[in-house]
Amino acid sequence: MKKYGDCSFCGGEVVQRNVELDYRYKEKLYVFQNVPAGVCRQCGEKYLTARVAKKIENDIFTKQDWNEIRVPMMNFGGVEALADVCPPS
Ligand SMILES: [Zn+2]
Repeated sequence: MKKYGDCSFCGGEVVQRNVELDYRYKEKLYVFQNVPAGVCRQCGEKYLTARVAKKIENDIFTKQDWNEIRVPMMNFGGVEALADVCPPS
């Protein structure tokens, strides 16, 4: 039995893989490794079963033993940054 339907964006076949998942919750970014998810073979869209989604939220509320990683971050500068990207000729 198929756990995941076809991709709702492109109609591609969705297969089960273990993936790394970024999850934002209240200003914090959580990274989960080895998450069983459906992944579209065509566009790469990820799908979670209700059970997995629930476990992710449950982990965020209850787990204490997180590994913390450093993530590069930069303020891109908004609209004014476009002047640097495309200098007027
Ligand atoms: Zn797709």
